[in-house]
Amino acid sequence: MPVSGLKGFGQKRAEQFEKLGVRSVGDLLTFYPRTYEDWTSVEKIENVQDGGTYCIRAVLGTPVSDTRIAGGRILSKASVYDDTGALKVVWFNNRYISQMLVYGGEYFFFGKITVDNYGAQMLAPTFASVAKGAVIHPVYRSTAGLVSKTISAAVEQSLKLLPEQVNDPIPEQIRQKYNLCGLKQALLDIHFPHTREALEEARRRLVTEELLVLNLGMRSMKQQSRGVSGVKIEKDFSAEFETLLPFALTNAQRRAIADCVSDVTQKSAPMNRLVQGDVGSGKTAVAASVCYTVAKNGFQAAFMAPTEILARQHFETFSKLFAGTDLRLALLTGSLKESEKKRIRASLADGEIDFVVGTHALITDKTEFYNLGVAVTDEQHRFGVAQRAKLLGKGDNPHLLVMSATPIPRTLGLIIFGDLDISVIDELPPSRKAVKTVMRGSADRPKIYHFIRQEIAAGRQAYIVCPLIEEGETDNVASAEEYAAELMLRDFSDIPVAVVHGKTKPDEKERIMSDFAANKYSLLVATTVIEVGVDVPNASVMVIENAERFGLSQLHQLRGRVGRGEFQSYCILISDMRNPLTTERLRVMCATNDGFKIADEDLKMRGPGDFFGERQHGLPQMSIADFADTKMLELSQKIADDILFTYKDLRNDELRPLKAEVDRLFARGGQNIMN
Ligand code: ADP
Ligand code: MG
Repeated sequence: MPVSGLKGFGQKRAEQFEKLGVRSVGDLLTFYPRTYEDWTSVEKIENVQDGGTYCIRAVLGTPVSDTRIAGGRILSKASVYDDTGALKVVWFNNRYISQMLVYGGEYFFFGKITVDNYGAQMLAPTFASVAKGAVIHPVYRSTAGLVSKTISAAVEQSLKLLPEQVNDPIPEQIRQKYNLCGLKQALLDIHFPHTREALEEARRRLVTEELLVLNLGMRSMKQQSRGVSGVKIEKDFSAEFETLLPFALTNAQRRAIADCVSDVTQKSAPMNRLVQGDVGSGKTAVAASVCYTVAKNGFQAAFMAPTEILARQHFETFSKLFAGTDLRLALLTGSLKESEKKRIRASLADGEIDFVVGTHALITDKTEFYNLGVAVTDEQHRFGVAQRAKLLGKGDNPHLLVMSATPIPRTLGLIIFGDLDISVIDELPPSRKAVKTVMRGSADRPKIYHFIRQEIAAGRQAYIVCPLIEEGETDNVASAEEYAAELMLRDFSDIPVAVVHGKTKPDEKERIMSDFAANKYSLLVATTVIEVGVDVPNASVMVIENAERFGLSQLHQLRGRVGRGEFQSYCILISDMRNPLTTERLRVMCATNDGFKIADEDLKMRGPGDFFGERQHGLPQMSIADFADTKMLELSQKIADDILFTYKDLRNDELRPLKAEVDRLFARGGQNIMN
């Protein structure tokens, strides 16, 4: 039933609701409140303080007086009192107030208090007659012309339309076992709870259901294999590959390679594997090994990197590595000349290239392969699942290898990568020294600069991630330029300094980064654009200004730019913030180099929205669940196990409503997962 089917809600309202993504009455039921106004805890007027938000229970001591003020606006004022004192209530431009409030009547008022020379006042409070009783009021996300109160009225009508018995996706038996309330009760209480306890019960039930549905959906995707692969890999060349390397592989790298080799040689289904390893753990060598085996078996390998710089760097690494072999390599990126791209694409289509490294240029329609055997994506979190799929579409069910340096807490990983098998590289190359991390204040800058000069004098290089001027800005051009200019004029006037930021043109950035890699610059001032993967083993110092503005995982990524070679490296976090939470977070950075531990802390402290930066994890939009809630994630995991154990299969008749929810979730926000 469309929203316009509700009494008092016409076509115009329906259009407003549409803006909120609400089309049907069913959508309204799951349009959960953004927050609540708790009118059950009433404050006495004598206790209210400037800036606080309160619910008071008071009598209207004067009639509401309307005055016209500047701009033709109406100011409505009244005085209210309880047995401890009086205060003013004020509204702007609501000409109905005087008709809605009765002189001498008793009401709940809910709003924010400001105190000035004339005493305390409550600004534009919401209110209700005391006769209606104290309740917890839902507050909905609103849009132009559609306020929370109107939405609340529509939801109230919708809830009345619910039948006596609603189809509950969670079977009764499971609900009882895990102490979850029924769906109908949950829907009533999430919108109009009578007590805080009822609200908590409702939320627990709905969050569990949503995570459960997600969990089951990801599992069934994993089972739906991508069919039989047309790529037949018979022989393992990984031992031969190892002889090409200038170093010995770590055990963790060997294990990851063995996982991949067994995937591609022993199964008829294509490999679907994620290799997860901290920055610097040597994921590139793992990928190169797999590509080598595939190429030596006569199939093509494609390696996709998120940026030109990275693609180029990988191409150079592989060119050196495979110089003595018969592998034919190519680089395909957007910045190549059109004629060059054309030539490379033609050789890819003809099978004259065995191994191509590239950027998004690899997945455009123009790129065709002769017989794509394996697709590798580096820095997985930069690619949407759809892009991954597009690359795969260029072969006959080719193998997939996904690499990620974003350590994701285990509970979350189980869900996010539910469709992938995982190999973890939990060991750094032995030559690697842990980066020493310290916390400093801006007053220490002279000492820090002195230290940088010493390192540079010893032949090393340094990064400075410059301050961000405004809260929330992640790439402040002006500040980067200014900061670098300062350094070049004063402390580092005799040292080659370069600067890159978000507005630096790609080819210019490319040039600077490769010059930095070639040690033509000793100091690189940058915004966070350096975050992803460029390998400069000679760099030994990373200074991060305003360290408190970054998430822990981001700091960890930045720190990963140093400590990639044989030299002792340092990460200096500069912050003048001294509040306990900031200090605690930065202390975590100083205490550990373990990306997984840091990710766990980060998730706990900041929540997943920040954790992932943008919505790049490819999961469907959740309406109520919160990925930071590990307890609920674990519970849903357990229930999913239980359900599959009890009912064997999601297609079981008793699970029909649950299966419908799974299908719905993935139809709604999950296109990026499914296609
Ligand atoms: P990441 O996992 O961050 O992609 P890379 O693959 O770029 O890491 O490896 C980081 C550096 O470590 C590279 O310079 C690489 O040559 C080197 N490396 C990789 N594996 C080993 C190893 N087993 N022993 C020594 N050095 C290694
Ligand atoms: Mg890498």
